[in-house]
Amino acid sequence: MDQGASGEESLAAVDIAPRLRHSALLAVAPSTLVPVSISNGSVATLEAPLIPERRDKLQPTSVTGNKRILLAAPRGYCAGVDRAVIAVEKALERYGAPVYVRKQIVHNIHVVRELESQGVIFVDEVAEVPEGSNIVFSAHGVSPMVVQQAEDRSLNAIDATCPLVTKVHREAVRFSGQDYHILLIGHEGHEEVEGTMGHAPENTSLVNDPDEADRIEVPVTENLIWLSQTTLSVDETMETVRRLRARFPHLQDPPSDDICYATQNRQVAIKKISPECDLVIVVGSPNSSNSVRLVEVALEYGAKASYRVDYASEIKQEWLEGVETIGVTSGASVPEILVDQTLADLADAGFTDVEEIRTAEEDLQFSLPKELRKDAAGNVDRTSLGGRNRS
Ligand code: SF4
Repeated sequence: MDQGASGEESLAAVDIAPRLRHSALLAVAPSTLVPVSISNGSVATLEAPLIPERRDKLQPTSVTGNKRILLAAPRGYCAGVDRAVIAVEKALERYGAPVYVRKQIVHNIHVVRELESQGVIFVDEVAEVPEGSNIVFSAHGVSPMVVQQAEDRSLNAIDATCPLVTKVHREAVRFSGQDYHILLIGHEGHEEVEGTMGHAPENTSLVNDPDEADRIEVPVTENLIWLSQTTLSVDETMETVRRLRARFPHLQDPPSDDICYATQNRQVAIKKISPECDLVIVVGSPNSSNSVRLVEVALEYGAKASYRVDYASEIKQEWLEGVETIGVTSGASVPEILVDQTLADLADAGFTDVEEIRTAEEDLQFSLPKELRKDAAGNVDRTSLGGRNRS
């Protein structure tokens, strides 16, 4: 699969133990007091967030057959999320708290709370950030206008945009410069879509779904190309393209996949297990596009029911009635500790037989944002490759 990330964001194939990737987030036990250095030199302690515990344990159901869990793999953290979270942690380490982050660094509430407990302040817009402060742009990317706003406020900006989103930005700039009109397939209001559209605002039209493909009006019918958000359903996107092409036969394809490797791999894994599942549980936040898509894909591929939860404590006893096989997966911004908690809670209900079904290996790592590749003294930081097992 050609992801086409290029430029200074180097890709490296490194053998990662994927389950180690969340180690830093795991390091803080619930309700631990975490020392946080403040930029004026003092140290404060903040309470780390709790993973909510359920009031009543899940109970074994009356099902007599073999209760089992099919655990999808790959699941959880992708290379872009891992890099973005490490970037914020490194910024805290280097500059001290507070570090500001525009929007949620990644779409997962636990990750956000965890970073807040370490001294990160999340804001919606750069206008909320005091002049001269440190700000991190989220993995979803920003438009050039936001970069300019940060410069106007003399902010020290660290760009944690996923390199695979940056790749789409570059495509938008390139094709717009070549007088193409871009049909961007994506969801209105999503931060990634706002960032990508902001790179070619005059020459881009947004297509939300296949139905919109049937009615969208465009200023030209020949020089047309489609691009997409990175976290969409592969099947639905192809249907949108099919319907666009039925109306605009000259529509050109992007030079490489825009739906990223992590989104595709998690969908392939859930497609594989869903036909065998009475229930599929997707761990992920409601604003996580790829997590929401996993629920849709699970239902489409044969799961009898599917629900998304932020935390295991949201699993309802009634979901388990009559269920023999449960599929479990997680979105690309979900630390594995939340999956571990899900498996532990389901074990209370008798689901102790867990089989991992792996459909792909992932070994991609991105180097950290260039602003963090050198240490405070200007020396090259040897840990600047974005995976947690780098030493
Ligand atoms: Fe990058 Fe894909 Fe992860 Fe988004 S889901 S951060 S595009 S690797």
